[in-house]
Amino acid sequence: MPTPLNAMLIARIREAGPLSVAEYMQAALADPAHGYYATRDPLGAAGDFITAPEISQIFGELIGLWVADCWDAMGRPRRLKIVELGPGRGTLMADVLRTLRVAPAMLPEPWLIETSPVLREAQRGRVDAHWADGLDEVPAGPMVLIANEFLDALPIRQFSLDADGWRERLVTAAADGSRLEWALGDARSRQDAGLPGALDSADQGSMAETCPAALALIRDVAARLVDQGGAALFVDYGTTTSRPGDSLQAVRGHRYHDPLEAPGQADLTAHVDFAALAAEAHAAGAVVHGPSPQSLFLEALGVFVRAQVLKRSATPEEAREIDLAVHRLTAPDQMGSLFKALALTDPHMPPPAGFS
Ligand code: SAH
Repeated sequence: MPTPLNAMLIARIREAGPLSVAEYMQAALADPAHGYYATRDPLGAAGDFITAPEISQIFGELIGLWVADCWDAMGRPRRLKIVELGPGRGTLMADVLRTLRVAPAMLPEPWLIETSPVLREAQRGRVDAHWADGLDEVPAGPMVLIANEFLDALPIRQFSLDADGWRERLVTAAADGSRLEWALGDARSRQDAGLPGALDSADQGSMAETCPAALALIRDVAARLVDQGGAALFVDYGTTTSRPGDSLQAVRGHRYHDPLEAPGQADLTAHVDFAALAAEAHAAGAVVHGPSPQSLFLEALGVFVRAQVLKRSATPEEAREIDLAVHRLTAPDQMGSLFKALALTDPHMPPPAGFS
């Protein structure tokens, strides 16, 4: 079933030429009228996918403790900006703020960076916060920034290697105008494609990805931490080294789809290249911790102890649900190893909790 965005994109391509994968993702996710995030709340069992804070309150509670630990290491500034990128339903921030009651000397000032009007509305029902479209709108001051499954939604560019070099993967319209299809651009060098040096050893036929929006964001976050103090935590699925691969995926109703089939109606994501982000943050002067597998990170923050405590006052049915949720968050064949935590701190801070 072609979507309204299908027709719009085909018209745009016929007028102005093929789109990069990044331009396509941007339109599919954020088009104000038909974009995926712009028009719906995709989270939860009834939605297209489920995330760690929606699986269990324990996730947000542990992140709350992580924020409190950073605040302590920062010298306990009275006011602390707690900035969340892509807060979904606001569940993570609500759990973090509840947990921060353990630090009554802190005046938390929550900031939610969200572009989707539908999700902003959902967040309004959960937390009392400030809203912004970007980090640049958040006033200066010490901050702890958190982001869960945010980077994977940022638009990537893809390249394919042949004998002549790296060719950008493009989205074009079929000759009869009936559907979208893949194409390839002109060959260029690895450097001109903006791909990391680790890809110099890639074989012909390889695909590779870069996420300019994530790199720019990491630079901004790192510069701000260096300048004003604080820490940032990114949790997402991805790789610890830059390596070839095509990780663009479309998910709809908890199932994988063809990424070109239903723009605006399926979630489009890509794996995060944590090595590239870490290098960028380091170059901008921040100290990098991790990436560490989600299982180890949550374990170091006390996920199993917290589950035991919750189970003490739980019914047998609730206790089973707690065990199931912790299994989903930590088991290696669930979210435990594919998901990773990466932290950035200003150079004056000791290593944050959860990273040995
Ligand atoms: N962090 C939440 C939601 C993850 S879904 C959770 O773990 O449940 C991705 C979120 O990022 C959504 O809230 C989406 O609207 C938001 N988002 C995507 N691109 C964005 C952008 N460029 N700027 C701000 N928010 C964005």
